[in-house]
Amino acid sequence: SPVIGVLALQGDVREHLVALAAADAVARPVRRPGELDGVDGLVIPGGESTTISKLAVLFGMMEPLRARVRAGLPVYGTCAGLIMLADKILDPRSGQETIGGIDMIVRRNAFGRQNESFEAAVDIEGVEGDPVEGVFIRAPWVESVGAGTEVLAEHEGHIVAVRQGNALATSFHPELTGDHRVHRLFTDMVRARGAADSL
Ligand code: GLN
Repeated sequence: SPVIGVLALQGDVREHLVALAAADAVARPVRRPGELDGVDGLVIPGGESTTISKLAVLFGMMEPLRARVRAGLPVYGTCAGLIMLADKILDPRSGQETIGGIDMIVRRNAFGRQNESFEAAVDIEGVEGDPVEGVFIRAPWVESVGAGTEVLAEHEGHIVAVRQGNALATSFHPELTGDHRVHRLFTDMVRARGAADSL
């Protein structure tokens, strides 16, 4: 089974560890640069993207994360994690940086005040069967994507799931639903990379 880390600086780390284990990965928290070396894939959880950004800099993780993602490490970001994987934030808070890896511009807290949290059925390209129950919590949306980025899902005309190469991101939180199909999609991406590397 692939070893998949969950960036454990802030956010819903435990829920991702549980979902990854259910999707047949060996899941472990990653806090230090040395812990990054041993993983075949990495999840960036939901939480608060400015806090995750600042802690990543403080823990000396930002540059190692950028280097591994640039080198093709499969990554999956949910909500704040989606923001961390964006090449550009439309409305960054001061001092807020991203890892990058997906050619997209994101808008933080985009779904607005009266709708800060809601659930909606989301049809995701590459996920078979019924729509996924999308849990949106002060969620970002993707304002625009570059030519190399695939849009996997939209909600009310706004992009909420994307993939570029080995990087996957959703505005919503499949780790909170008990439906592990999106985590399986990601573990399949990690397995495919491993298979390509050993050719
Ligand atoms: N609004 C948060 C942010 O900007 C994201 C919320 C979440 O991850 N549920 O980072």
